[in-house]
Amino acid sequence: MRKEILGVTFDDLTLEEAVAAGEQLAAGETFSYVVTPNPEIVNLGRQSEDYRQVLNRAALVLPDGIGVVHAAKILGTPLQGRVPGIDFAAGLMARLAETGGRLFLLGAKPGVADQAARRLTDQYPGLCICGTHHGYFTDPAPVVQTIREAKADVVFVCLGAPKQELWMARWGPETGAHLMAGLGGVLDVFAGNVKRAPAAWQKLGLEWCYRLLHQPSRVGRMAKLPLFLVAAAREKGKKP
Ligand code: UDP
Repeated sequence: MRKEILGVTFDDLTLEEAVAAGEQLAAGETFSYVVTPNPEIVNLGRQSEDYRQVLNRAALVLPDGIGVVHAAKILGTPLQGRVPGIDFAAGLMARLAETGGRLFLLGAKPGVADQAARRLTDQYPGLCICGTHHGYFTDPAPVVQTIREAKADVVFVCLGAPKQELWMARWGPETGAHLMAGLGGVLDVFAGNVKRAPAAWQKLGLEWCYRLLHQPSRVGRMAKLPLFLVAAAREKGKKP
């Protein structure tokens, strides 16, 4: 049962439920992918029918940003809360460390995924990171081959939107992996290069504000967020 927010259909799950669903998909035999749309991604989906379909075909569509949660409320179809991609990734890694599932890290600038892998294996004893690749490649074929040879069960695909979602949908099935998750800038955080907002800011729904203070270059991207809520209010106005 999904809830539609400006064209994108979200799963209304808690973090724990999302991780449990991800774990099941990772253990399955077929290929699936997870997307974690924030308002920016939903906006991109409103501009491109193809991209929106790629988002809606995901096995799990998790509300990454507080803006999505606010929009859901405005539309009268409230969600239980945010499920940040980074928390989903952390929960899944804790499970993989126990079950022995193999994780591949794809994306970010050269060296970042390796550094993230080193820190994550310290943080999650038993976690098997079976390979890494940076996200600045043009030919997908060697990357697909590398993931295939690494026998990855799960791949974190961190190429930014819309590239990561389009990449997972197009190339994912050829890698032999069972589950891919599109996770934006999480490798930069796992590598220790970008700091996440303290828990108190996260609880107040102000993670976006912390990010803006630390990466002021994002102001152009974030300026569109209020318009996202206005679009939700307009959509609600159209409903009987
Ligand atoms: N990136 C990449 N390949 C590209 C473009 C971007 O690997 O061609 C990486 C970039 O280095 C960063 C991530 O994708 O690590 C996108 O981060 P961003 O902060 O834009 O994502 P968000 O967390 O906002 O979704």
